Amino acid sequence: MRFTYFLPLLTLAAPAFAQPATLNPAVTRIVDGVSMERITANLKKLEAFGTRNVNSSRTDPDHGVGAAMRWIESELRGYSPRLEVTLDKHRVKKQGRITADVELTNIVARLPGTINKDREVAVSAHYDTLALRAPLTEEQRRAGEQVRPADPDTPAPGVNDDGSGTAAVMELARVMSQHEFDKTLVFILFTAEEEGLIGATLFAQDARKQGRPLEAVLNNDIIGSDLSGNGEADGASVRVFSEDPNDSPSRQLARYLKEVGERYVPSMKVELVFRSDRLARGGDHTPLNQEGFTAIRISSAMENYANQHTATDTLANMSPGYTTRVAKINAAVAATLALAPKAPTAFEPIQSGPRKGQLQPMIGRGKSRYDAQLRWTPATEPDLAGYLVLMRSTTQALWERSFFVKKDAKDLLLPGVSVDEYVFGVEAVDADGNASLPSVYLFPPREKMKVETY
Ligand SMILES: [Zn+2]
Repeated sequence: MRFTYFLPLLTLAAPAFAQPATLNPAVTRIVDGVSMERITANLKKLEAFGTRNVNSSRTDPDHGVGAAMRWIESELRGYSPRLEVTLDKHRVKKQGRITADVELTNIVARLPGTINKDREVAVSAHYDTLALRAPLTEEQRRAGEQVRPADPDTPAPGVNDDGSGTAAVMELARVMSQHEFDKTLVFILFTAEEEGLIGATLFAQDARKQGRPLEAVLNNDIIGSDLSGNGEADGASVRVFSEDPNDSPSRQLARYLKEVGERYVPSMKVELVFRSDRLARGGDHTPLNQEGFTAIRISSAMENYANQHTATDTLANMSPGYTTRVAKINAAVAATLALAPKAPTAFEPIQSGPRKGQLQPMIGRGKSRYDAQLRWTPATEPDLAGYLVLMRSTTQALWERSFFVKKDAKDLLLPGVSVDEYVFGVEAVDADGNASLPSVYLFPPREKMKVETY
C-alpha cells in the first residue's frame, strides 16, 4: 500500500492554497495603513516641480530634477530612523537623450530585516520624467523616425509616469518602516528611465557584481490611470508583466503577486500578461531581469497616450484612489514576502556518473514508477509551519492545486499523478500563513547529442 501524506482530496477545489487562504493580521494592518491622502500629497508635490527631466536644473530649490531628488531623499529620511537612505550616484556621459555629461542619482532606502537580513525584497519606481515633441504621424513612424525629446525645461509633470509609482513607493516606505520584517525591504526610486532605463541599468549591474541578495523586485511604472484614451474605464484591474519562459522566476513572482494581492485587496483584479512589457515599450524591471534578478512590472490596465510624456500628465488626469489600491497590492505582497521563510531547495547534486555534481530537481516517479514523488531540502525557520506543494497542468497559466504538508515532512507522494503532464513547485509557509516564492521542479533543456561517426 502506498503512503500519502494528507489532504489531497480536501484541496482539489482550492485554486491556490490548501490551507484556508488566511489573512495575516500583521499584513492587513500594513495594507490598511497605506493612505490615499498621503499618496495624493506626494503626487501634488511631485507635480509642483514642473519637470523631473534628468537634463533639467539640479540646483534650483523648487523646480526641476535636483529639487525633486532632494525632497524625496528628505521625506524618506524623515519616515523612520531605521530606514537607511543612500544616494546611488553614477556619472554618465552625454549620449542619446542625455544632452550633457551628468551625475545621475537613484535613491535607495533599506529597512534591515530581523532574521534574514541577507535577503532583500524591493519595490521600485522611477522619479524622472520626460516631455516629447509632437507625436509622429503614422507615415513618419513607419519611416522609422523617432520622437525627439522636448527642451528639458518644457513642463513634464509626470504625475502618472511615474509620479504614481514614486508616490506609492514613498508611501510604502513610510508605512512599512513602522513595522519589522524577517527580510530586508528596499525602496528604490530610479532615475533616467526615460533616457533608456539608465538608472536601473547601472543599479542592476552593480547589484550583480556585488552579489546583492535581491529576491524579488516589484517595479511600478504608470499606476495612476483608470481611463484609457479610447474612453474605456477600469479602476479595478492592474496588469503585471513578467518575462518568459513560462516558469521563469519572474513569472512565478507574477503568479504569487496575483494570489497574495487579490487575497488582501479583494476589490482589485490582477491581470497577468505573459510578456516582459507592453509591445515595444520598456521599463526598469528589464535591466534587472537582464542581470539575472527576479523582477516584474506593475502597470495600470488603462493608458491614455495623449497624457504620456506631455504637459498633460497631471494630477487632474489621473486617479489617486486607483494608485492607492495598487500601492496596497504592493504592500501586501512585499510584506508577505518579507515575512515569509526562505524558499525550500528543490535541487540536489547528482551523486555519480558523467554528470556528477550537477544539480537536478528532486522529483521522481516513486517506487511504483507511476506516481509523482517530490522532495525538498528542509527550510530552517524558527516559525516554519510546513510546505505547500503546487501543481498545474503544463498548459495552465496559474497553479491549479496545492497540498499542505507539515514541517517535519521531507517529501510528498501523489499517487497515480504523471510527472510528465504537470509542473510542480514547493513553497515554505510560516505559522502566520506567509508563503515563500516557490522553488519549481524544472529540468534544464536537454543537451545537444554529440555523435561520433567514422
Ligand atoms: Zn515610466
